[in-house]
Amino acid sequence: MKRIAVLTSGGDAPGMNAAIRAVVRTAIAHQVEIYGIERGYQGLIDGAIIPMDARSVSGIIHHGGTILRTARCDAFREESGREQATRMLATHGIEGLVVIGGDGSYRGAHDLWKHSGIPCVGIPGTIDNDIGGTQYTIGFDTALNVAMEAIDRLRDTAAAHDRTFFVEVMGRHNGYIGMCSGLAGGAEEVLVPEKAFDAHALVETLRTGAARGKTSMIIVVAEGGDGGSAYDVAAKVAELSEFKDSRVAVIGHLQRGGTPTAFDRILASRMGVVAVKSLLDGASGVMIASENNVMVQRPFEETWTSRNLFDPDMLQVIHTLGV
Ligand code: ADP
Repeated sequence: MKRIAVLTSGGDAPGMNAAIRAVVRTAIAHQVEIYGIERGYQGLIDGAIIPMDARSVSGIIHHGGTILRTARCDAFREESGREQATRMLATHGIEGLVVIGGDGSYRGAHDLWKHSGIPCVGIPGTIDNDIGGTQYTIGFDTALNVAMEAIDRLRDTAAAHDRTFFVEVMGRHNGYIGMCSGLAGGAEEVLVPEKAFDAHALVETLRTGAARGKTSMIIVVAEGGDGGSAYDVAAKVAELSEFKDSRVAVIGHLQRGGTPTAFDRILASRMGVVAVKSLLDGASGVMIASENNVMVQRPFEETWTSRNLFDPDMLQVIHTLGV
């Protein structure tokens, strides 16, 4: 293999730049030419393919976002879009592709590989940490730390004013960020999509806390729960109880940006190295996964046929420690 390319696709995540850097420099270390594709599969279809060298990735390891930018591309879901992408890869003489993204991006990579025969290897980049087959995804640790720090800050003002705060964190389909930031931030309760919302139980938790002398409390609400947004939950609690003067904070996209943590930079760097080595060793249709801190290969299919779920016992830990 003499020439490969790298792209970022789907939702951005802090640490993607560290992964790009690792891919580029590992390729160079193996005397393989490396190209960057801008804006994911859309850029591949459009031919936004640029040569990269060691200096192209200087000074990016500590930046969030992705220097290659990312996009969602409906045309790539169609056979005709993948055919155009195949032509572009052939025109540029690209013999292998590293895709940094989530399970949606791997479905695309899987179809491209089957269509074109061009080997594709994935690197998991998403703040949600929900990709099957890997215990950690790039960006999760950074998003978690942003959420935790926000909870810490809100706790200061909550304590000063004897207030209850409902803090909404990201997690449309899973409660990983909610559960971990709630545990790390010492929340009284965490509402996650994996567990049915029980407004009366939540009111009981707040009342128990107040009876035990708590003057302020933090409830973490993952955005995808069936209780609705943090505003909806706060309104429901106000309707059912004496907790009418609460406050709501939605952290939102702050969780996606900013300086990646050391954990994410190290994970991204290790995965980038293994992704390129795997490609050069003949692997295809696999994602690089972290399993007990060892970088391994997992078939693309596993990333969408299974999910990385948190241990439900963690919710019990939060309840036990929130007395
Ligand atoms: P993520 O990779 O973060 O899960 P998306 O689900 O938005 O993000 O997927 C990113 C891109 O991957 C999509 O815009 C599309 O181009 C491609 N993709 C997603 N699902 C499929 C699919 N089933 N078949 C082909 N391509 C897909």
